[in-house]
Amino acid sequence: MLRLLSFVFLCATAVQAQQYDLVLHHGHVIDPKNNIDGERDVAIHAGKIAAIESSIPASAAKHNVDVAGLYVTPGLVDIHVHVFTGLRHDAWGNGDLSVPADVMATPNGVTTMADAGSSGWRDFPEFRRRVIDNTKTRLFAFINIVGAGMANSDDVAEQNEHDMDLDALSKTIEQNRDVIVGIKTAHWQQPNFISVQKAVAAGNRSHLPVMVDFGWFDNKSYETMIATILRPGDISTHVFRMPAPLLTPEGKPAPYMLDARRRGIKFDVGHGGGSFNFALAEPMVKGGFFPDSISTDLHVDSATGVMINLPNVMNKILALGVPFSEVIRESTTNPATEIGHPELGQIAVGSVADIAVLRVDHGHFGYADLAGGKVDGTERIVPEMTVRAGKVVFDLNARTAVPWQQGHLKYAVR
Ligand SMILES: [Zn+2]
Repeated sequence: MLRLLSFVFLCATAVQAQQYDLVLHHGHVIDPKNNIDGERDVAIHAGKIAAIESSIPASAAKHNVDVAGLYVTPGLVDIHVHVFTGLRHDAWGNGDLSVPADVMATPNGVTTMADAGSSGWRDFPEFRRRVIDNTKTRLFAFINIVGAGMANSDDVAEQNEHDMDLDALSKTIEQNRDVIVGIKTAHWQQPNFISVQKAVAAGNRSHLPVMVDFGWFDNKSYETMIATILRPGDISTHVFRMPAPLLTPEGKPAPYMLDARRRGIKFDVGHGGGSFNFALAEPMVKGGFFPDSISTDLHVDSATGVMINLPNVMNKILALGVPFSEVIRESTTNPATEIGHPELGQIAVGSVADIAVLRVDHGHFGYADLAGGKVDGTERIVPEMTVRAGKVVFDLNARTAVPWQQGHLKYAVR
């Protein structure tokens, strides 16, 4: 009887001792928001970060994974992607350019994305039903100022100021407050700022930031836009696209850029298929003007071109000399804060367990821009694992699996 009792007791303590679902052991944790930069064990329980300690015993967890030699960072946050093509899509000219979010997020350490204006208010219910509510990646959206969104060619739908209905827009925002994080104006090519002014008006009405996504400043002044129209917290994406004169004749970041930054304007990379050039990025970065956030402008053309994926865009910024921990800041807490979700992009006890485990290879690597230009790098970030709300959703080197001989045979061999 005594023996039976002690057996029960042992089982109970063993179960009780396993207070965590998963512990990542011996990784180098980098969390810029909470100033963590060193080796820590990270425990996860019920989808949240449960402990960050110098050492957590393996007996405390149901599952233990050794990530020695790897970096453990907050799950990456990409605030400029295109993961929806609207019902009104009929003549974009390039076909359907949107990408399934999970396919590009999960294997790349990305746990949060914000779609940048693929949908306007007209297609938003469809976007929500088909994509946002059925994607494992946490997906937010900037809603397009144009009702039809990026419905067809840039030259048609998004030039239509008569489809900028602020009443319909604000109604859709109220119905989708949990996922809409901003207003987007894109591809505006007219010699005025009507789309930006309307987006700012909508932003004021709904208390949301605006993201401006275009690079046509030959017929209007970029300086005027960021100095007088955009508000603190608004985001200028495609910061390293060529046309706007961001550099002084001596090749230094223009004083008006520094003024706008002091005023609170945020500058986002938005690499895309036509918006990243080292001829601009290198002198800006070397002149101390780092981007606030690193994003992909993900779509079929950019993913199959020189953008490739978010880690590759981070590699380019790293190759320009931005320190690794700063690159992580620009890919986690900074973009999360820009979209009004400062609770994301960090590894803190109680926060959601969205984590990227990254390897940094050292060697000789090349990184290309959109003009065929190249920068050599000595480091390359390679995603090893992605944890989304406490679940391992990507595991490049099968760290969470066991030798198959020890596993349970799941499929009958015939
Ligand atoms: Zn875009």
